Amino acid sequence: MGTYGRQNIVFERGEGCWLIAEDGQRYLDFGSGVAVNALGHAHPQLVAALKAQAEKLWHTSNLYRVEGQESVAEKLIRLTFADTVFFCNSGAEACEGAIKVARRYHYVSGQPERTRIITFRGAFHGRTLATLAAAGNPKYLEGFAPEAAGFDHVEPDDHEALEAMIGPETAAIMLEPIQGEGGVRAFPPERIAAIRALCDAHGLLLVLDEVQTGVGRTGKLFAHEWADVVPDVMAIAKGFGGGFPVGAVLATAEAAKGMTPGTHGSTFGGNPLAMAVASTVIDIVSEPEFLEAVRLKALRLKQGLVGLKDSHSDLIEDVRGEGLLMGFKLKSHVAPAQVVGAAAAQGLLLVGAGDNSVRVLPPLIASDTEISEGIQLLSRALAHVSGEGS
Ligand SMILES: *Cc1c(COP(=O)(O)O)cnc(C)c1O
Repeated sequence: MGTYGRQNIVFERGEGCWLIAEDGQRYLDFGSGVAVNALGHAHPQLVAALKAQAEKLWHTSNLYRVEGQESVAEKLIRLTFADTVFFCNSGAEACEGAIKVARRYHYVSGQPERTRIITFRGAFHGRTLATLAAAGNPKYLEGFAPEAAGFDHVEPDDHEALEAMIGPETAAIMLEPIQGEGGVRAFPPERIAAIRALCDAHGLLLVLDEVQTGVGRTGKLFAHEWADVVPDVMAIAKGFGGGFPVGAVLATAEAAKGMTPGTHGSTFGGNPLAMAVASTVIDIVSEPEFLEAVRLKALRLKQGLVGLKDSHSDLIEDVRGEGLLMGFKLKSHVAPAQVVGAAAAQGLLLVGAGDNSVRVLPPLIASDTEISEGIQLLSRALAHVSGEGS
């Protein structure tokens, strides 16, 4: 179906941070398939894990125990706040699952009226009917009425409005620590701590959508670690499979107490192929030295982008983000597609976002040289865009 406005490039293979098109042209991939290829393309350990599993067993369904699920869940539990994990196949499914966990928690706690979830303007939680309603973006909801009920939206920076929105039917507050699709807009760490405190005061669950911010993207294994708070429920996907489709809902035992046999399910969720890859991704990304290296590279990227903001102040309004989830907002006379197109023409892949901005999402394995090369290519692309405008 014609649901995508695709760029007219066909890639044939990938090597680390590079994609090679059919015509032999090489592209530096600073989009990472929208924050998915955390370990770049064709990472030898991921290829080996997938090949080895492919020769043993692909799928059994969740009618039986799945060894890979048990071991990946144990790793996630050891590394995070979570006591329990549900595996699914995508970010939207992980967010849907998180919403179900929150509603079910209050249902089994004797407060079945607590069904409403407070979410934030500019959010993105996926394209299913409930996650579209959760984000409340009119552009994505158009033509898909009736809108799923049970979501209340507030502006991200209005803490008073958030407090006023809490009522007897509120079940949870749900947010992305950094809004990715929305334009790389971060909740300051102290704000996330204040939202945590609000949840505690009112008996609400804090649900974090770390589909884009998670699995090392911000230089911590999960972005909420920067705020030094823990959620009750968390959705992950994107980088978790490094390109293999997989997602998960993580929760405390208390938050997940309503998720008893028969309450939720997925045919493909946590399939052995996905688990083999996700297990390897988690092993590599959770190493403290790996995350430290991400933070160092992130510093270099941020300095480069701030430099470009100074040299191209006619185009760039500000630079934002954390770790390797960076972006820049453009002046109103420039559209993200112009910059993304000009960059692709220079051999650099970027991703557009809301709030008139562009995302820069290198694979977490990018070298210092590749970060510098990306900045150089972007500088040339911006020069072209400036030239076109004059
Ligand atoms: C991409 C994304 C989703 C949706 O993930 P899909 O795998 O496309 O369903 C949800 N939440 C956030 C924050 C995302 O960035």
